Amino acid sequence: MSNTMDDRLTLVEERIRQACERAGRSREDVRIIAVTKYVSLETTREALRSGLKHLGENRWQDAQAKWNAISGGEPSIGEERPVWHFIGSLQTNKVKDVIGKFTYMHSLDRLPLAEAVNKRAQQLGIIVPCFIQVNVSGEDSKHGLTPEELHPFVERLRDYPGIEPVGLMTMAPYEAEPEQTRPVFRALRELRDELRARLPYAETIAHLSMGMSNDFEVAIEEGATWIRLGTILVGKEED
Ligand SMILES: *Cc1c(COP(=O)(O)O)cnc(C)c1O
Repeated sequence: MSNTMDDRLTLVEERIRQACERAGRSREDVRIIAVTKYVSLETTREALRSGLKHLGENRWQDAQAKWNAISGGEPSIGEERPVWHFIGSLQTNKVKDVIGKFTYMHSLDRLPLAEAVNKRAQQLGIIVPCFIQVNVSGEDSKHGLTPEELHPFVERLRDYPGIEPVGLMTMAPYEAEPEQTRPVFRALRELRDELRARLPYAETIAHLSMGMSNDFEVAIEEGATWIRLGTILVGKEED
């Protein structure tokens, strides 16, 4: 990509603003996670210089070097540190690497993982804000609970004080026509509303992590509060 990070951010900002306007939403209610999984440390630093504050990575092996370089040392005075979001599927044996370094977990999708995250959180004396991943589209290739599994799962999470469920996350199938993703995003919003209406302790489940480069405007129109942007914003570099 020949244009700069600042140019891309300006373009994306304008599209976010327009989507918010169409939906009658406030721009402040939508936050951007810059997904840096396809780019180098240098490009990640450029994203931070452009004012992006939230970074998303989906594999610890790939994220490790960037995390160490950016957040591993002592912060210098006045330095603002990014907030890291783990957005990929997480193996239980990687929990010890990720929890404590990544503030948010977007891919909580099974009890053994919740168990491991809770255990690590308690060792560290922290509470981890987590999104519960739901496979709304039902595609085999996608991780996440089925919509039917969601309520019982949320009830079980009460056993894990180291986890704070803050929202739901989903990935829509890639569609050449982004409008086609709307039912997936709408369904996630309805699942959130239903949870909060039915379960008094689900009050904290307020956020929706949904929308990527191809479909973020539709996701915003359907209520996304966190959008996860890789290619369109920070770009995609060949290895
Ligand atoms: C890679 C990835 C993204 C960003 O994808 P783009 O299409 O490049 O914006 C968002 N969410 C998850 C879970 C991802 O793995």
